[in-house]
Amino acid sequence: MEMRFLGTGGAMSARRAPACTLIDGRILVDCGPTGVVRLKESGCTPDAVDAVFVTHFHGDHTFGLPFLLIERAFRGTRGGTLHLVGPAGVEAHVRGMLDLAFPGCEEVLARVAFHEDVAGTVRGVDWEARAVSHGEMDARGYRLRLDGVTLGFSGDSGPCDALYLLSQDVDAFVLEMNCQTRSFPGHMNRDDVVAFLRRTTARRVLLTHLDDEPREPVAGAEIPDDLARVLVGSSILR
Ligand SMILES: [Zn+2]
Repeated sequence: MEMRFLGTGGAMSARRAPACTLIDGRILVDCGPTGVVRLKESGCTPDAVDAVFVTHFHGDHTFGLPFLLIERAFRGTRGGTLHLVGPAGVEAHVRGMLDLAFPGCEEVLARVAFHEDVAGTVRGVDWEARAVSHGEMDARGYRLRLDGVTLGFSGDSGPCDALYLLSQDVDAFVLEMNCQTRSFPGHMNRDDVVAFLRRTTARRVLLTHLDDEPREPVAGAEIPDDLARVLVGSSILR
């Protein structure tokens, strides 16, 4: 299985694009403002995306969705349904963004299916969502299983028990580390990550959602660059 880190930055990073991950060229976790640009840079097309797992409604995680929808509707050739999985209100949120970005284009939602459930299956991906700690925001992390590989995603979150449940025995866990030394409510810093690494049973931990503070290595975790290609599990690449 291949994970492609289309963005590894926090909302205000100057050096990295907003956090967005592509799995096996067809599953996205979040789609921030630069998501579609980076998707194309990676050699993938918006048309190839089967599902997007939205962690929460902050713009650095969602503002690329109108562009993804427009491209699929007007340039796509596959004609398949796009599955959008997210917190309660995901359909209203996406409709609102689309109306602001491209008024009068709601027909692009004709082949979109919305899912607000905390567990389910789409396109061969079993998902489980858990509420994480991100201030007042209804934010969720995910645990995804596909092709025999289990992946976890913290989304944006401060330390909380859900991160351990989501990361239990996963092949790889993508964990936010917004800050190096600062404490910022609803996010992890380096000390939080070090504490997490002591308890988690994830086989690999990859750090993302990074700000621009000088960053030191964290023993037991990897820090991918934007567009990094990471292979997970023993699945043969398609
Ligand atoms: Zn956020």
